[in-house]
Amino acid sequence: MTFREIKYFSFPGELLMRMLQMLVLPLIVSSLVTGMAALDSKASGKMGVRAVIYYMTTTVIAVFIGIIIVIIIHPGKGSKEKMHREGKIEQVTAADAFLDLIRNMFPPNMVEACFKQFKTNYEKKMFRIPVPENETLLASVVNNVSDAMQSLTKMREEMVPVPGAVNGVNALGLVVFSMCFGLVIGNMKEQGKALKDFFDSLNEAIMRLVAVIMWYAPIGILFLIAGKIAEMEDMGVVGGQLGMYTITVIVGLLIHAIFVLPLLYFLVTRKNPWVFIGGLIQALITALGTSSSSATLPITFKCLEENNGVDKRVTRFVLPVGATINMDGTALYEALAAIFIAQVNNYDLNFGQIITISITATAASIGAAGIPQAGLVTMVIVLTSVGLPTEDITLIIAVDWFLDRLRTTTNVLGDSLGAGIVEHLSRHELKKGDAEMGNSVIEE
Ligand code: ASP
Repeated sequence: MTFREIKYFSFPGELLMRMLQMLVLPLIVSSLVTGMAALDSKASGKMGVRAVIYYMTTTVIAVFIGIIIVIIIHPGKGSKEKMHREGKIEQVTAADAFLDLIRNMFPPNMVEACFKQFKTNYEKKMFRIPVPENETLLASVVNNVSDAMQSLTKMREEMVPVPGAVNGVNALGLVVFSMCFGLVIGNMKEQGKALKDFFDSLNEAIMRLVAVIMWYAPIGILFLIAGKIAEMEDMGVVGGQLGMYTITVIVGLLIHAIFVLPLLYFLVTRKNPWVFIGGLIQALITALGTSSSSATLPITFKCLEENNGVDKRVTRFVLPVGATINMDGTALYEALAAIFIAQVNNYDLNFGQIITISITATAASIGAAGIPQAGLVTMVIVLTSVGLPTEDITLIIAVDWFLDRLRTTTNVLGDSLGAGIVEHLSRHELKKGDAEMGNSVIEE
């Protein structure tokens, strides 16, 4: 098939992507505002702490699985010559990745936040300082970061090839704003009622639209996947190191998705995780088809609330935040891929560098937007932090479309099981809220 034919063929899939993306922004805002407003600040604080502990624990576990698996399987048995890397400053970009993350939490302009995903000083190329041989420490740090961010920008332009990807919404900024806004409305009691009612009915309207789209979703997903398969015809078989790398990522993701996460769910809730996962099938297949946890969000909501009966006060709070910052699959993959690139370059990482990779992979997964192949792009941060060549990302691009689908599915699974776990841990507060409010506000 020619490129044009493939485009025509996958058109119904592209439409699904667009419909889902269309709803993401109002869904995130309305569900978070109503979710936060429905809880008293003590209850939402507790729920928030539980959710964040869950996100961090599972992300860190995922990173370690990635690291251990890639060290054991060692898919990148050496083929390149040893690299020279003098005067590289390590671990600096780790700190910077965090600063950037926090920067993005507070968008100076909310309207702009709906359009721009990364808004950093580095992107504006303000910090490039001409440095002769004797680089000062500061200048070299600044230039390192600047290089990383510049290649990140360049790669974003060149490498996010999926049609109709959610284009650069600063979801993190929106999440933080909506949560604060919802909290404030909740505390305003009578005065906040008009706003609360507005967001409540906005949320309901969006969920009804989701219900309509769900009828079309199976057809769209079918075409999305079929279009991708048609595109693959010419790609040939992936062998050697890249094949081993692909297998290693799959093994890592499988361990996390079918062993660690369900076990955690069982240990906390004492309920059968597979029954819960059974209710998520449509969301998981959508994640596989769209490679985007944001685009899948509307379906994840429906599955959790309707199939698994998870309380709306939990889903409205945990899911949008999870889809934005909790990406276990991406974290696992980032750490694994960085170490693979080190292996291919015959570059021995010391313990400190592995720790740096685990920190930056965590940050990069939090900072990655829930859109196709975002993780590949934020990997620049991980590679730069230990002085690995960012251009070697090209080594793994060929298989990334496939691995992206798998890690997105893992991401969505992690968010969903997290909602189940947080609901279980918050059952007392939820019951108390029911008793106080007659549960009239949110259980329509
Ligand atoms: N596509 C992933 C997601 O939407 C992010 C990534 O590229 O890892 O969850």
